[in-house]
Amino acid sequence: MDFPPVMPPITLLQWSPGARQAPTVRVGIILARDQYHRLRIDVVGPDSHPLDADGKTIPVAGPLDISSSGNGLQVQSGRSTWETPSLSIAPSRPADLEPTVIVRDVPAGRGFHWQKTLDVALPGAVEVLPKPSGLLVVNVLPIEAYLVGVITAEMSGECPLEFLKAQCIVARSWLLAHTEPKHEQDPYERCNDDCCQRYQGVGALSDAARIATADTRGLALLTADGTVLDANYSKSCGGVSELPEHVWGWPKPGVTSVVDAPSGCGAEAFLPVTDRNLGSFLDEPAASPRQWFCGLSDIDHEAVGRYLGRVDEPDDYFRWSLAVERTVLERNIRDKVPEAATLTAMTDLIVRRRGVSGRITQMSLEWRDGDNVSRTIDLPSEYQIREVLHPKFLYSSAFTHTVERASDGAITRLTLRGAGWGHGVGLCQIGALAMAIQGASADRICRHYFPAGRLEHVY
Ligand SMILES: [Zn+2]
Ligand SMILES: [Zn+2]
Repeated sequence: MDFPPVMPPITLLQWSPGARQAPTVRVGIILARDQYHRLRIDVVGPDSHPLDADGKTIPVAGPLDISSSGNGLQVQSGRSTWETPSLSIAPSRPADLEPTVIVRDVPAGRGFHWQKTLDVALPGAVEVLPKPSGLLVVNVLPIEAYLVGVITAEMSGECPLEFLKAQCIVARSWLLAHTEPKHEQDPYERCNDDCCQRYQGVGALSDAARIATADTRGLALLTADGTVLDANYSKSCGGVSELPEHVWGWPKPGVTSVVDAPSGCGAEAFLPVTDRNLGSFLDEPAASPRQWFCGLSDIDHEAVGRYLGRVDEPDDYFRWSLAVERTVLERNIRDKVPEAATLTAMTDLIVRRRGVSGRITQMSLEWRDGDNVSRTIDLPSEYQIREVLHPKFLYSSAFTHTVERASDGAITRLTLRGAGWGHGVGLCQIGALAMAIQGASADRICRHYFPAGRLEHVY
């Protein structure tokens, strides 16, 4: 009797559509930038054991307290202490969705206004590696197990099934396309945060999330030439989705801009958003007759909080306003732009370029230094604009601004009126949620945000 050959697991970096099998993913959980020199891990899997660098089992007597020690690790459990160059913890049977460990105080939303720490339960194998800047924790697990975690971290696992399926297809496509250079110098392929995709382990899985992942196993968006479509997503497009070339500087095959409203409702007039229609675009209320999907006008506030999950707070992301006082504005810029360390007064903000969603993609700031010399700095991306104009991070760069000035021309107050949350490219998570609540299938949601893509099983 012939058995099919047993294929060794392949990693995400080795994967291509021709592989016809699901890869494993290496996900950074605690990163060097976190600068953790101590951490606590509880081993919770019944047949999971910590192994030192020589493969010897470390007996567990309570939580593992792990700290940097020279070039290696010191591991303490109960009254015993071990020194080892590295540590791995793996279940003895093949990985599934059962947690192997709980890692305490894992950062989420690093550098953004929503930053916090969470305890995360991780399945599969976990490696702890010492680096000079701090300890690294890497989770090595099958892509489908990772995706169940992603779709319950990006939004809540309580979301409607068809939303979770669409989110899973898009997250899988982005991961498999693997076109954005990230973490090439790190011992992991993707991190656990907004830089890549949020992943907070498997401690808060819902039945819907498990079903959504299983029902779409291997299903990805493909471009016309058969490559996996690099499908981005963000929290709220604000009404019109952005083009990748305006956010990252290059186009992505199959990723277009769409109006986030039912066809024929008049919203098409805002594609593209330009200086001419920007004012009326920002005047659009959430409950407009144009029925913007991410306006969420039919969904009550409490339900939105439940759907957003553990990290995000409900807010008016579709349309928002923000006032920044002089001291805060100047401090943000001095803190975040090294060339502006000597700034004593902001004198102007000049919009140089906008994308198709109203997002500013290039802006100049004019300011005076301590010698009263006028200077200019350019903010060349929507990311930098969002970073510099807010103490943590601005929701989006799709805004108009007004200023109040002192008699010497210094800006004393900056008021922004904006739309959306995030870069706005690809699937709009809040819009997709609204579509699912209104009864749209995952297939229809994917076709709405990626009209140039087609769905196909790649393994
Ligand atoms: Zn990342
Ligand atoms: Zn939207």
